[in-house]
Amino acid sequence: MDGITAGNLKMVFGDFVAVRDVSFEVAAGEFVTLLGPSGCGKTTLLKMISGFLTPTGGTIHLSGVDVTRTPPEKRDTALCFQSYALFPHLSVLENLEFGLRQKRVPPAERRQRLDAVIDNLDLALHLGKLPNQLSGGQQQRVALGRALVMRPNVILFDEPLSNLDAKLRDQVRIEIRRIQRDFGLTAIYVTHDQAEALAMSDRVFVMNGGKIEQADTPEELYSAPKTSFVADFIGSANVLEADVTSTNGNGDVELSTPLGPLKANSGAPPMGRKVKICWRPEHADLTATGENRLSARVTHRAFQGHFTDLHLDDGGNGYRIQTNQPSIREGDTVTFSLRSDQIVLLEALA
Ligand code: ATP
Repeated sequence: MDGITAGNLKMVFGDFVAVRDVSFEVAAGEFVTLLGPSGCGKTTLLKMISGFLTPTGGTIHLSGVDVTRTPPEKRDTALCFQSYALFPHLSVLENLEFGLRQKRVPPAERRQRLDAVIDNLDLALHLGKLPNQLSGGQQQRVALGRALVMRPNVILFDEPLSNLDAKLRDQVRIEIRRIQRDFGLTAIYVTHDQAEALAMSDRVFVMNGGKIEQADTPEELYSAPKTSFVADFIGSANVLEADVTSTNGNGDVELSTPLGPLKANSGAPPMGRKVKICWRPEHADLTATGENRLSARVTHRAFQGHFTDLHLDDGGNGYRIQTNQPSIREGDTVTFSLRSDQIVLLEALA
């Protein structure tokens, strides 16, 4: 198969397990993001794919070839990371052609590859400059260009935008996606920024404690998280414990929760008699009079422009909702409905 296949990858440092039995497939041309909190093993996984770390166990195949023990320079991968790693004493052009010279690519082909990248990344006006004469965004483009001239099949990014300010990050994100498509690259991108992951990726692998908790499209992760960790990490969610009181073959589930009885239908049977459930603050509907009616007192209100964030308290149970009714005040009691298909069943409790 084209693309990347990892089978039971494991990385142990001393007696610390940084990556535990991780398996996945990334299709050729796919853009996948590894997302998770600091220390969850994202960079370690990326380094195993690029060859800078040899796994303690498991295998990596690139385009069907076992590269588990192949050194980085012999893999068809390029790595881009946040510090850019440009040679400070070399001009932009010299930085761009450095790898090509090292690989003894003949001059005519060198010229052709450089021209394509210089044109695509709009670098023609900067070729004679040194890296410290460029802005952060321009340096990032040169770093990308240096990777692209090598014509890799796989490009790996480790937090490439963390040195850029918010506005520039938005621009470079779009640029990275365009380039990845133009060059037909398979990409793995590491970030701990969930907005970046959701905006850029075909699929996101959410990592926690050295494992992939869920690998899905951004839309699936948001609407159908499988664990409370994912529900909490992607967007914001109200997570609570519930007892399953009845189920039927159509996926209808009745629940007893600290907020009262609730009905859920997320299309899948519950994982046990005692489960965690979640629902999104924006799904509270203050105008509907349908199922799952809840009432609570507003303890805090934060106006956010196009919506208002309300912190609620129901007999000691706190949670949040969002509304577009700006007239609600602290101390008011609000009543709202939740659709049963917006209540998601998560993992079973012991
Ligand atoms: P961040 O977002 O902070 O970069 P990360 O998810 O990329 O985090 P990793 O850099 O993969 O995390 O590290 C995973 C865990 O492995 C961390 O607890 C880290 O301290 C540990 N670790 C990484 N490299 C080594 C090493 N060479 N020796 C010992 N422990 C290491």
